Amino acid sequence: MTIRTRFAPSPTGLLHIGGARTALFNYLFARHHGGEFLLRIEDTDKARSTQQAVQVILDGLDWLGLTPDQPPVYQSQREARHVEVALQLLAEGKAYKCYCTPEELTAMREQAIAEKRAPRYDGRWRDRDPAEAPEGVKPAIRLKAPRGGEVVLQDLVQGEVRVKNAEMDDMIILRSDGTPTYLHAVVVDDHDMDITHVIRGDDHLTNTFRQIQIYDAMGWKKPEFAHIPLIHGADGAKLSKRHGAVSILEFREQGFLPEALCNYLLRLGWGHGDAEFLTREEQIKLFTLDGVGRAASRMDYAKLTHLNGMWLRQADDKRLMEDVMQRLVTAGLTVSTAAMERLLRLMPGLKERAKTLDELTTSSAFLAREVPLPFEPKAAALLTEDTKPMLGRLLPALEATDFTAPALDAALRAFAEAEGRKLGQVAQPLRAALTGSTMSPGIDATLEALGKAEVAARIKAVAG
Ligand code: GLU
Repeated sequence: MTIRTRFAPSPTGLLHIGGARTALFNYLFARHHGGEFLLRIEDTDKARSTQQAVQVILDGLDWLGLTPDQPPVYQSQREARHVEVALQLLAEGKAYKCYCTPEELTAMREQAIAEKRAPRYDGRWRDRDPAEAPEGVKPAIRLKAPRGGEVVLQDLVQGEVRVKNAEMDDMIILRSDGTPTYLHAVVVDDHDMDITHVIRGDDHLTNTFRQIQIYDAMGWKKPEFAHIPLIHGADGAKLSKRHGAVSILEFREQGFLPEALCNYLLRLGWGHGDAEFLTREEQIKLFTLDGVGRAASRMDYAKLTHLNGMWLRQADDKRLMEDVMQRLVTAGLTVSTAAMERLLRLMPGLKERAKTLDELTTSSAFLAREVPLPFEPKAAALLTEDTKPMLGRLLPALEATDFTAPALDAALRAFAEAEGRKLGQVAQPLRAALTGSTMSPGIDATLEALGKAEVAARIKAVAG
């Protein structure tokens, strides 16, 4: 049997991190078992589903490296099949037509609430003769669910969960306007897509019991279910906008790497000993549902940022350079070919000091700027009537080298000694002149990355 999982988002909002983690777990589970990971866009709520939201889902999954193995299935395009199954259940006497008017249903609900009972449909059309149907009322189709016994679910994360059939009413599978309900459509689709494992948020647990009733009525083999706990904010409340970035693509904008985010989301709610930093290959190898905890996990941005810094240091310099370049361009800077080369040369030093691509962009911007540079106040304060001429004297000593880091380092040391200054007293004003700030990678590497001509231009711009 081929293991087949699916991610089934509704395109009514953003692809948020909870959804991304569900997708990741489905992806890893399928890969671990050499199976397939599918995507189904649940766009049956036509009023709230947007093409833009679909695109965000596709782009988000792509960015995270969770591309499905087959083109997405659009639930809205399968309506005829959902109707067919509902009619089959009706024909087999496993479903029935309910002619209740909205007013009757409201009255039923209000009475139940007044009597402190759960509001449930009372089954009044279950065994009633359809010949008694009122004029002009279009019926809904309801599942004739078992009255006795219970539904027992062996959930792969939650363990055994039972619900008595008596606690569930006869659900509508086809509305009176002829459209299938969500619960029904999901079962038909999961069956037709040969899904073997449904891994989704535990907010769907109650739906599962109703869906099992449909599987049983159709005599279909049920998939395994795994309901994973939700992600909460650091304060324990349901994750929302006020907790910071919520949409997956906002994390991209803020400079998180997709592999860091996946690594973080995996560790959030799944564990394998102390393993913290896991590559995609390791994740696939190690991922099983046994490692998924039952408690809600809390989103911790500090931890994510720390992990992102670790991934950043491992990342390929050229890839980082290209990303930073895009961000600089977006910020309005022109990035010349020479600036790109400088960026690439200094990347090993720059990435050591940054935790996000945003930080990396800020610390890289000086490489793309042209003289005169903007100076941070602390840097401006280092350029005095004493240090400016000193930099003027330093320039020929630097120019006399082959402009490699070791030679530049040696020249700086010799110059400081000859001037009777400490190395820092030379290096700090020099850094200010070259970068406009007080922080950069090692001064020798910074000099080498900028190159002789640019160093000369920058020193002359301040030393006169
Ligand atoms: N469409 C549902 C959602 O976005 C998921 C349904 C499922 O996984 O069965 O929450």
